[in-house]
Formats: sequence, structure tokens, C-alpha cells
Amino acid sequence: MTQLVWFRSDLRIHDHAALSRACQRGEPVVALACICPNQSQVDGESPARQSLWRRGLTALRSNLERCHIPLKIIVADEYASLPDKILSLCEALDVTHIHFHHRYEWHERRLAHAVKKLAQTHELLTIGYHDQVIHPPGSLTTLRDDYYSVFTPFKRAWYRELTPDAWQTWPAPAPQSKTDITADPIPDPWFPTAARYDELWPAGEDAAQQRLAEFVEDHLDDYGSERDFPALDGTSQLSPYLNVGLLSVRQCLEAISLHQGGHLPDTKTGAGSWVNELIWREFYRHVLVGFPQVSQGEPFKQRYGTLPWRNDPDEFQRWCDGRTGYPLIDAAMTQLNQTGWMHNRLRMVTAMFLCKHLLIDWRLGERYFMSRLVDGDQAANNGGWQWCAS
Ligand SMILES: Cc1cc2nc3c(=O)[nH]c(=O)nc-3n(C[C@H](O)[C@H](O)[C@H](O)COP(=O)(O)OP(=O)(O)OC[C@H]3O[C@@H](n4cnc5c(N)ncnc54)[C@H](O)[C@@H]3O)c2cc1C
Repeated sequence: MTQLVWFRSDLRIHDHAALSRACQRGEPVVALACICPNQSQVDGESPARQSLWRRGLTALRSNLERCHIPLKIIVADEYASLPDKILSLCEALDVTHIHFHHRYEWHERRLAHAVKKLAQTHELLTIGYHDQVIHPPGSLTTLRDDYYSVFTPFKRAWYRELTPDAWQTWPAPAPQSKTDITADPIPDPWFPTAARYDELWPAGEDAAQQRLAEFVEDHLDDYGSERDFPALDGTSQLSPYLNVGLLSVRQCLEAISLHQGGHLPDTKTGAGSWVNELIWREFYRHVLVGFPQVSQGEPFKQRYGTLPWRNDPDEFQRWCDGRTGYPLIDAAMTQLNQTGWMHNRLRMVTAMFLCKHLLIDWRLGERYFMSRLVDGDQAANNGGWQWCAS
């Protein structure tokens, strides 16, 4: 009997609840990753993010190999065919439990639900764990039992419900007994590649940990005063690593707490300001689940759904290319196009410029960002655009 761990946007072996729990059962463990190029196209996922995910998967495969856990890979044309393919693999490997981390995008939740339903009919157990957040969506609600739609009360609730073990991390699993199941090769890139992404965003848990350690050591204390100046190297640039799960939010909080002598500070310090941003990240995940219309192209506030946008195609193209004639906007868009990353302040400025100055529908900008960002994330990107357009 075998335990299957389905890796999604959580490409690490440290602090991986699903992997640790599966290993604790004392049976052979097999890992799985699914690749679906058509879905990446539907999501408008950027080559930069796909490159980081694929290179992260390669690093994960090696790390798992050291634990004698083979990584199986399913390539599917579309998400609809994945549940059947996963089930066939389970039957071939005599799997009894499928462990995975939740994702909160609408189509990801639908996929996990379909896998669970199909597994049930074959008496297979699926176990989902909340990995991307400290408080699972639905666990923080207003007095009227609604999801929060405003950040500040959400943040208060986030701190109020925080327990001292909230950022406790799982160690990497010890090596398992060897099995005769072999790992699959990582498929060749299924997206346009560019060598600069490999240099700018080296993949692997070690690279993520090194960047985290350097940021905490050199920049955390000044984060509050430097984070809003794009010309300074004042933010962590860890968003791509958090996004594909080479790093977890608990590992970030643990690093802050170690730096601060064992506690999480309030927002009056540099470290407190950084926690604040991690809470924003979590807030938008709750919004995605609580207000699912936002992931289906609808505005958070319905009354803005019928705004008459100007949508000049030439002006939109100039904005995309960084040719508006406004130096700050053009520099920011050039940074995005060349590196896949943009400073938060510039994301706000370019987004507001598009929808409030050029009067172009924010959804076009949202999609363009996704097609370029190495940290493209439906929750944060949609939340950022809706916030800028409101
Ligand atoms: C229009 C717009 C689009 C955005 N699109 C994305 C996106 O696709 N993916 C993404 O990760 N972030 C997005 N953000 C949020 C933010 O700009 C980036 O997370 C941040 O710039 C990443 O840089 P950093 O890692 O140096 O952040 P730091 O300042 O070091 O912050 C630490 C972490 O907190 C999280 N974070 C920081 N600010 C925010 C925020 N405002 N909202 C949500 N999470 C935050 C990120 O995970 C980040 O890595 C967007 C913001 C706007 C205004």
C-alpha cells in the first residue's frame, strides 16, 4: 500500500505538511506533479513563472530522490482529464491515500474536488492541508459570519487568532526505505524559454532560503522606511519563491521571529511592516474564496461592472511596451518585461495609470501582468488590480 503526495505550488520538502504526514504513516511514499500546458495558457501564466516552476520541480525531484521518494509526472491536455489520470496512477501503485495542499483559485478548487469525488468512488482517501496561509479561508469571519472585505479588521482578526505554534515548521522527511518505483524525467520546457530567468530567479529551496536569510539580515530592520522607494533594494523579492512554494509563509514568519527574539512584532517596526505584507497576501486568498466572482473577471463591487472604458488599443500597446512617454511608467513596464518582476509601488502606479489615466479596463492590465510576472498569482494580482481600479 502506498501514500501519494500531489505537489502543486509547494515545490519543497521542508515545511511540507502533506509530505510529512504521508511519511509518518510508515508506508512507501510516491510524489506526483501534474503538467497541463493548455491550462497554463487559459490562466495566462507567464513563461517566467513556468520556467521557475519547472526548474523548481527539477530541484524537488533531486531532493525527493535523496529521501528515496520517486516523483511521477502526469502530462494532460486539460484539467478535465486529470482526475482519471491520477486515479489510474493510484490503481497502478496501490495507493490508499492522496495527500495535497489546497490551492484557492476557483479552477484549482474545482480540480481538487473532482479528484476527491472520483477517489471516493474507488474507496481512496484524499487529505487536503492548508499550506499557503496561517488561518484557512473561512476561519476568520466578521461578527455577521461573512468573509472580510476590508483589510484592517482582517488584520486585527489575524493577530487575535494567532497561536504561538502558528509558524512552527515541519522538518524534511527522513529517507524512506527504497522502492522499485522509478522517478519520471522532467519534460522539456513546454513554454518559450529565456536564459535570463534562470540567472535572475535561481530555483530550489536553497536559493529561496539564501534570499530570505540575506533579506532578514540586511534589509528587514529598514523595510518600513525603504519599502516604498523603487530605486532602493528595500524589499525581499521573495514573491516568486512564495508563489511556487519553494518557500512557505511559516518559514518567513519563523525567520522574522528568530530575528526578533521569538515574537512577531507589530507594524511599528520594519519587521512588523513585512508581516503586514504577508497578511495582505493571505487576505487576498480569503477574498478569492469568499468572493469567487473576482476570479471570474467580475469586479469586487458589482456596481462598477458596467463602466464605459475607452480601451484605445494603441495606448494599451504603448503601455504594455513601456512607450507611453512617462519615464516612470515606461521604466516600470520595461522592468516587468525584462525581468518578470516589478516593485509594489510601481505596480500600483502603472495599474492606476492604465485604468484612471488611459481609461482602459483594468482586466486587460490584470491579464497582461499575469502574462509577464514571474510571481503571477491570481489572488494578489486580482486583488491589486481591483484595489487600484477602485
Ligand atoms: C496591480 C498589482 C498586481 C500585483 N500582482 C501580484 C502578483 O501577481 N503576485 C504577487 O505575489 N504579488 C502581486 N502584487 C503584490 C506586490 O506588488 C508583490 O507581492 C510585491 O511587489 C512582491 O515583491 P517582494 O517579494 O519584494 O515583496 P515584499 O515587500 O518583500 O513583501 C513580502 C511578501 O508579501 C507579499 N506581498 C507584498 N505586498 C503584497 C500585496 N500588496 N498584496 C499581496 N501580497 C503582498 C508577497 O508574497 C511578498 O513576496 C501586486 C500588486 C499590485 C498593486
